[in-house]
Amino acid sequence: MPTEYTVQGIGISELAEQYGTPLYVYDGDGLRERIVSIRERLHPKLEIFFSLKANPNIAICALLHAHGARAEISSLTELATARRAGVEPADIIFLGPGKSRAELAACLDEGVYTIICESFGELELIDQLARERSVTARVALRVNPEFAVKGSGLTMGGKPRQFGIDEAQLVDGPGAVAGLTNVRLMGVQVYMGTRILSEDAVAENTERILALAERLSAALDFPLEMVDIGGGLGVAYFDNEKDLDFEVLAAQLNPLLEAFVSRHPETRLVMELGRYLTAPFGTYVTRVRYVKTSMGENFAVADGGTNHHMAAVGIGSFVKRNFPMRVLNRAEEPATGVWNITGPLCTPNDTLGKKVQLPEVRPGDLIGVGCSGAYGPSASPVNFLSHGHPAEVLVLDGRSHAVRDRDRPDDLLRNQHLPETEALSRAGR
Ligand SMILES: *Cc1c(COP(=O)(O)O)cnc(C)c1O
Repeated sequence: MPTEYTVQGIGISELAEQYGTPLYVYDGDGLRERIVSIRERLHPKLEIFFSLKANPNIAICALLHAHGARAEISSLTELATARRAGVEPADIIFLGPGKSRAELAACLDEGVYTIICESFGELELIDQLARERSVTARVALRVNPEFAVKGSGLTMGGKPRQFGIDEAQLVDGPGAVAGLTNVRLMGVQVYMGTRILSEDAVAENTERILALAERLSAALDFPLEMVDIGGGLGVAYFDNEKDLDFEVLAAQLNPLLEAFVSRHPETRLVMELGRYLTAPFGTYVTRVRYVKTSMGENFAVADGGTNHHMAAVGIGSFVKRNFPMRVLNRAEEPATGVWNITGPLCTPNDTLGKKVQLPEVRPGDLIGVGCSGAYGPSASPVNFLSHGHPAEVLVLDGRSHAVRDRDRPDDLLRNQHLPETEALSRAGR
């Protein structure tokens, strides 16, 4: 009997049957173990903030929050998501380089813990909005540091950036933050990049960020109520990558944090994590519709593709390499050939996997893209060819839950309007 891939004992065929394909399946037990083990291993003063950007599903946010994660958000919808998932305003931070007036106002009105400010212009706007409300805004400065540490897939710092404020501009011109009547500077945030797979790089970043925060609070004379050390912890996607050794990481990080805590016992310490919390626990499942060959190569055309999983095509910090892929309904069968896995879009870029070693693929097979719990549909062109968002299922304690319905045509057409003008109803010739 062919053995199929299961999630907590539930066969993938059963999930595909019940919820249809294409489908994202999340392993809730894995998610829960992840956040719990991170919190157990890292310094107890370090608070983990879930970056909703990585996976904005409300159920994922609620699950992580139930096990101690707070929320790092960047939009009104992410704010509503975090609140409805049960996160208190005191455990929400808002960041992003282009915050709108409405977003900043919502931060003040909801009373989120801090707004992470990314420019002098934003600082003035926060001050003005807070004055209008007769409140004092708690603001942390996002700093674009002069240093950069090697070892991330996408490095920040040490370069001109649209994110944060240059360290030099803050220190050389302290006048820049003077004269604000309704802003209370209370913290520092630095984000050094994403997909970091080196324990040394994370530790070095942290050490430098903590020192920078102390320098800035002294230079600009504000108390350090919070330091957000960023995060950017990576997961291994490809054969040539190795997952972080969390014991090694904790052994390097905790003494740095402890030294800081002993100097600043009142300061909240924050780490923002997106990918590291969710990526390993999501699988994108598509069903093969057709198989064909073209000029000697095998193609399996599936019902979902890069419209739901753009990262698989190799964008941003990714070089074009294949994500881990399997024929899920025959998970134990050895590879016998090389396959291109493509989707329903009318573009050659719609290739989930190029020359993947797989067993013989047949119509009806379920292809799984592993390690897909972060930057999946929300970071993909889900509306391309108007296919819409795929369904999402969370398996928790051996039971599956629909946590997002797939878009239907009506969902996509709801916000479109035919203008009421004769020009559109005039009979054509
Ligand atoms: C994207 C982002 C994160 C989350 O990054 P991951 O690599 O997914 O952990 C955290 N903080 C900031 C500022 C970001 O832009």
